[in-house]
Amino acid sequence: MSMNSVPSSTSSSIPEALPDSVWAATAPAASETIPLAGDVTADVVIVGAGYTGLSTALHLTPGTDTVVLEASEIGFGASGRNNGLAIPTLAKADPEEILRVFGPEKGETTINLIRDSANLVFDLIRRHDMEKAGEQNGWIQPAHSPGRMRLVEKRLEEWTRRGAKADLLSRDQLSNLIGSDAWHGGWIAHQGGTVHPMAYARGLAKAAAGQGARIHTKTPATALERGPKGWVVRTPLGSVTAERVVLATNAYSDDLWPRLRRTFVPVKTWQMATTPLSDNVRKTVLPGRHALSDTRGDLQFARYDWQGRLISGASLIFDMNSEERLKSIVGARLKRNFPQLGDVEWEYVWSGFLAMTPDYLPRLHVLAPGVFSWLGCNGRGVALATAMGPVLADLARGADPEQAPLPIVEPRPIPLHGLVTRLARSDLWRRRRIDGVEFGG
Ligand SMILES: Cc1cc2nc3c(=O)[nH]c(=O)nc-3n(C[C@H](O)[C@H](O)[C@H](O)COP(=O)(O)OP(=O)(O)OC[C@H]3O[C@@H](n4cnc5c(N)ncnc54)[C@H](O)[C@@H]3O)c2cc1C
Repeated sequence: MSMNSVPSSTSSSIPEALPDSVWAATAPAASETIPLAGDVTADVVIVGAGYTGLSTALHLTPGTDTVVLEASEIGFGASGRNNGLAIPTLAKADPEEILRVFGPEKGETTINLIRDSANLVFDLIRRHDMEKAGEQNGWIQPAHSPGRMRLVEKRLEEWTRRGAKADLLSRDQLSNLIGSDAWHGGWIAHQGGTVHPMAYARGLAKAAAGQGARIHTKTPATALERGPKGWVVRTPLGSVTAERVVLATNAYSDDLWPRLRRTFVPVKTWQMATTPLSDNVRKTVLPGRHALSDTRGDLQFARYDWQGRLISGASLIFDMNSEERLKSIVGARLKRNFPQLGDVEWEYVWSGFLAMTPDYLPRLHVLAPGVFSWLGCNGRGVALATAMGPVLADLARGADPEQAPLPIVEPRPIPLHGLVTRLARSDLWRRRRIDGVEFGG
């Protein structure tokens, strides 16, 4: 695969391997799955086995005959590669903005869905006994400037007014909680936390399969067409005919529904894991094992895995010498934020794609009668993709789309999509400049 492009499974029937990430190396083994062979029928066919597809399958079963098709492995896409921060907010829009854009009715239902989204993640982990899949000990968003602290106060007020469990953190409180004086204060959303991304994906798959979902890996959906008995999804060795289809392919969407791919920009982002840190260091750096990501446009973030590795990452404008540059950039950031860390050693570096929409808002689509999709996590998909599962499951069971919590919108291709995609990463210059200008202001 070219390092700059999302794999296209419709153009190749050879599934790609999982990236060499700390998550792939340390997750419990996946339940055994096999490629689809032969022609089968189902009530619902789901394309994509990430959090969206698997949460949809989990909420459809038992009771609805469900087939999931995954081009590669469970969690191959963003779901097995992310930082694992389960965050019950959107990346940019706060409740008042969501109400302004989605209107009073859909705005309110969308806000409720987002507010409860991280709770759903941890409820599923507990309910289905997912081994070592998550810790619900809060997401902290520190403010990198006094100006961003005012935004944090407004954000907290808007979310707590709508029932979110969250608290403001003064500079001293934050410093005591995370072991750093680098930020100006912040807030903690108590329902947030961290997941082991791949353990969670595999846990969802095991739970859905346990309830009767038939999950086929190494099975790219190569064509989708309307037949006399319903929608037919073709794969290299067979097909699934079903009344309803859920496209859960998000940033990894290929040409299966060509228009979809042009409605978002796939943005590459990098993740990295240190070697396990000593107990002494861990007592002073994020001692509460919180999820942490700050207010910068060029986000700074960190969390621990179960073995005490610190997992962080960054975006880059160019791929040249990426690993070396990332190690130096992210190592310096961590050291600046937590001087007690000293120089860290890196054990894993990997990358993945997330789907950005022009207004940073999620999109729910009815692509044709009986074909549903959502995308546009804008970097907040651990909780949101999970919460879209029940929404898509309701639609796939025949619920009235008008009753969905999010507004149903037309898929609108982005003009000059190829060019916009190529230039998207250079937006990092602008974000870094804003982060810098805001510093101290
Ligand atoms: C590096 C990185 C870090 C991130 N960090 C965070 C974070 O800390 N917190 C957070 O909230 N969000 C984060 N995100 C976003 C989050 O991971 C995603 O929003 C979420 O995982 C999306 O899940 P999904 O199931 O919708 O899509 P995916 O997990 O991407 O799944 C889509 C699947 O569809 C499959 N597929 C595509 N085409 C076909 C086809 N034709 N046939 C069959 N299968 C197909 C793909 O192989 C893939 O497995 C991050 C994303 C990345 C990339």
